[in-house]
Amino acid sequence: MEEASSLLTLLSSQLGLDRKVNLRIKKYRKWAASANLRTATITIDEDLANSYEVAKYLILHELIHIKLDTKYHSDEFYRLLYSIMEEDEVKAAMEEAVSIKRGKIRMH
Ligand SMILES: [Zn+2]
Repeated sequence: MEEASSLLTLLSSQLGLDRKVNLRIKKYRKWAASANLRTATITIDEDLANSYEVAKYLILHELIHIKLDTKYHSDEFYRLLYSIMEEDEVKAAMEEAVSIKRGKIRMH
């Protein structure tokens, strides 16, 4: 949780995001992460928050939704994502998430 907070601060600054973002960790059954764009709140699954690489990817993914103020995965979304994490790093994080949650992964 402490690590997740530091990740939030670090990634927000790398994205040049000036909006204050709230982070919640909760036990989800199927969701990996979600973002409420109106309240600028990111929620990530408790099991996944314990893995640094997975938490990094999930927080970054949701922060980009907040920065762009859209739930769509546009070209701009991926440009920002891959400006901060390598494609291989994202792929590895997703694979780890699927393995931790035994395949039950959904995210916005
Ligand atoms: Zn998304």
